Amino acid sequence: MPNTYDPQNIFARILRGEIPNNTVLETEHTLAFRDIAPQAPDHVLVIPKGAYVTYDEFALNASDAEVVDFTRAVGEVCKMLGVQPGEGGAGYRMIANSGENGVQEVPHLHVHIVGGRHLGKMLG
Ligand code: 5GP
Repeated sequence: MPNTYDPQNIFARILRGEIPNNTVLETEHTLAFRDIAPQAPDHVLVIPKGAYVTYDEFALNASDAEVVDFTRAVGEVCKMLGVQPGEGGAGYRMIANSGENGVQEVPHLHVHIVGGRHLGKMLG
């Protein structure tokens, strides 16, 4: 079943400026902001401005410009947080919960960048 986008989802409302957010980075096609309920000292959500629900949908259908912008924004956020393992940072986890089995709560594509503490094994 194709993803159907709900324009009233909370991240769509954030993108329209209807709900405030703690912005970390904004680019032409991407917004990164702090999670409202952080699971670790660093917890940033990176979202495309386009109406995509899941990463697979974005990866297959977004324009090259959107994909490049989003990917570079993830890198910039890691740099801003100082978590890059190759640059002396202590590392991070990038998570994209997708659909029912992935337990995705907000139906607008977002990747979580989580760090600032040891995160344990990937799945509990
Ligand atoms: P999911 O479970 O869909 O992968 O993650 C959704 C995330 O969005 C959760 O970590 C939740 O804390 C965060 N979130 C939900 N509503 C808001 C909001 O209004 N503002 C911000 N900044 N984060 C939100």
